[in-house]
Amino acid sequence: MSNDCIFCKIVAGQIPAKKIYEDDVVLAFHDIQPQAPVHALVIPKRHMVCLDDLTPEERLQAGTLLERTAHVARELGVAQTGYRTLINTRGHGGQEVDHLHIHILGGAAIGPMVCRHR
Ligand code: 5GP
Ligand code: ZN
Repeated sequence: MSNDCIFCKIVAGQIPAKKIYEDDVVLAFHDIQPQAPVHALVIPKRHMVCLDDLTPEERLQAGTLLERTAHVARELGVAQTGYRTLINTRGHGGQEVDHLHIHILGGAAIGPMVCRHR
């Protein structure tokens, strides 16, 4: 656990969150500022800063994170209509919380994949 990490505090129960799914490896909860009718975050319970922080030894955990993300999307009822998964990494990726997380966005057409870069 990282002491100044919001998501570690959610894992530890020190900050409330609307939890969707939890097991020994991952936690899923609703985003506090939803950008779509359904907006959930799926995180590894163990603190890692971003995708670039993932080590080869953690690839099994990464696979679990991905599989549980699909499970959470089914639980949220968006699997059939479709959804977008997003991982932002560091500054140019728009990462604001430095604890690896996968966004699930759905419940309506999410629109263009990215803003046009000029
Ligand atoms: P990022 O920009 O790092 O990819 O996304 C961080 C996400 O975390 C944002 O969508 C933001 O709304 C969400 N978020 C930030 N703080 C909290 C919090 O305390 N609780 C919850 N549930 N979501 C949070
Ligand atoms: Zn953390």
